[in-house]
Amino acid sequence: MKTPLRPAPSVLLVEDDAGIRQSIRAALMSEGCQVIEAPSLARGRIDLSGRSPDLLVLDLGLPDGDGLALLTELRLWSPMPVLVLSARGDEADKVRALDAGADDYMSKPFGVAELLARIRALLRRSLRGGDRPGLQTFGGVVVDQDLRQVRRNGEPVHLTPIEYKLLCLLLNGGGRVLTHRQLLAGVWGPNHVEHGHYLRVYMAGLRRKLEADPAQPRHILTESGVGYRLRPQAE
Ligand code: CA
Repeated sequence: MKTPLRPAPSVLLVEDDAGIRQSIRAALMSEGCQVIEAPSLARGRIDLSGRSPDLLVLDLGLPDGDGLALLTELRLWSPMPVLVLSARGDEADKVRALDAGADDYMSKPFGVAELLARIRALLRRSLRGGDRPGLQTFGGVVVDQDLRQVRRNGEPVHLTPIEYKLLCLLLNGGGRVLTHRQLLAGVWGPNHVEHGHYLRVYMAGLRRKLEADPAQPRHILTESGVGYRLRPQAE
């Protein structure tokens, strides 16, 4: 178990399934987090404004409504990290949640260890605040966003401007999934969000230049039907 984060971050858990709540609560408490539990949308709404948690874990299917409604309201006033729990394989739900401003999602059933890893990453990022990105590394690749330089195993790598922009979006996502729509809008602007095939072409280019085995990427990962994520540490 990792050293607890300090001061104890508080996590609001909006989930109607008592069994899932219980296992997530136990895991978070073992990490030194405080946990606030809300079994409904209405309760979650009250605790969000009243208890100012550091992070929200949000189930989408709640007895009194869609968790997405709460996320949409939250994003009007807070950039707080949000991890969404969705029913297995429902890609459309995940995409809607990410487009509405979720930072990450997990499909049920999920492993608690993986959930904790994602939560730790989100908390680290938000507690670090608005640092300059500086140097970022993954799999032998070093990206210096201040100097706009990319090196792989010490050798300079030439990326096209679009490849570089995509790479920075993925890196600045800090491991979170970015949807096709978010990536397309980030690189080409809001009028090109339907052109998913652009992404496939440029992601293939990035993998060819940056992955040890472009056919088996370990860092620039496809989230099928949803988007892409950059995983800094290969598992
Ligand atoms: Ca539910």
